[in-house]
Amino acid sequence: MTQTAAPAVPLPIRIPIREIVPWAVFVVLLALIALYFVSAEQGATAVFANMYVHEFVHDGRHLLAFPCH
Ligand SMILES: [Zn+2]
Repeated sequence: MTQTAAPAVPLPIRIPIREIVPWAVFVVLLALIALYFVSAEQGATAVFANMYVHEFVHDGRHLLAFPCH
């Protein structure tokens, strides 16, 4: 007489929303800052006085079709 063991069913991973929200807000904030520097820095507005940031993201600006020059 043989007994067969029931296959182990993995439990789903539970990720509480309350733990995700602060990280989601942080990532969205970083993305908005990156989007600002790619799209508008040294365009209509400028945080830094020189053109280093503009030149650093210049190809990305053209790639994403933001107006440049
Ligand atoms: Zn350009």
